[in-house]
Amino acid sequence: MKTFFLSLFFVLSFPALLFAHGGELLVTPETILQGEPFLVVAKGIDIREIKKLTWDGVSVPVFLYKGKPTTIVGVDLIARVGAHTLKLSITDGDEVKKAVEIQSRKKITAPLGIPQKLGGNTKQSQQNLVSILSKENGVLAKVVSNKLPWWGEPFAFPLAESVVTDEYGYSRATGSYSIPHKGTDFRADIGTPVRAINAGVVRLARDFTVYGKTVVIDHGGGVQSFSMHLSKLNVKEGQKVQQGDMLGLSGDSGYALSPHLHLSIRIGGVSIDPVKFFALFQ
Ligand SMILES: [Zn+2]
Repeated sequence: MKTFFLSLFFVLSFPALLFAHGGELLVTPETILQGEPFLVVAKGIDIREIKKLTWDGVSVPVFLYKGKPTTIVGVDLIARVGAHTLKLSITDGDEVKKAVEIQSRKKITAPLGIPQKLGGNTKQSQQNLVSILSKENGVLAKVVSNKLPWWGEPFAFPLAESVVTDEYGYSRATGSYSIPHKGTDFRADIGTPVRAINAGVVRLARDFTVYGKTVVIDHGGGVQSFSMHLSKLNVKEGQKVQQGDMLGLSGDSGYALSPHLHLSIRIGGVSIDPVKFFALFQ
């Protein structure tokens, strides 16, 4: 009788043991700097068993991508260097933890003048620029993201030809102000078609003083893309788009010294390096 109860115990507790020891969080890429995104795949765990996944205590959306429970995390440009924690809570009360090391990004500062159309390089126009920028950032920060993704395919570059002219992450010194470049600039003559990097909904399509003509697409799953300094908007707020749809034409509207496409990508509201983001899907 004793043996019977003992074996019953092992049979009943086996699935729980399997979860506690079989579940694993896989993180790519191996090296992650401040301002970079990373992918997390929960291996050996059914998405229906997942209660919550947190990054440093903040809940992040988990969705099925290529049939596996997945999330994308954005690391802030000014995130603390060192070990951070991913914690997966499973419905039966188990937890899977993983330490993720964030490495330091080299600090680079380069000067950037103010174009004549925004007042030129005077103290007054510097102050105006920073004040308008803060208002425009306030509007952009309010753009919402759907919890579940509207995409199921890898993300693609917005231009037919992708040549980076200005990288993400360095600081632009404008007078006594330092403005971080939270996006990637791509070479684009005026009038070059700018395409949706994946399926989503147009949350914002309007003209800003500093960012110029801007389109914000919410791709869901916390991912948003921002195309700025366009010469023409081709979409309306609320419109659904598919990958490759033309959002507008590139230009030099707003605070742009020459024609180019500025692309920002935010994950959970955090702007990350777009080039590293595309690399996650290759
Ligand atoms: Zn830019």
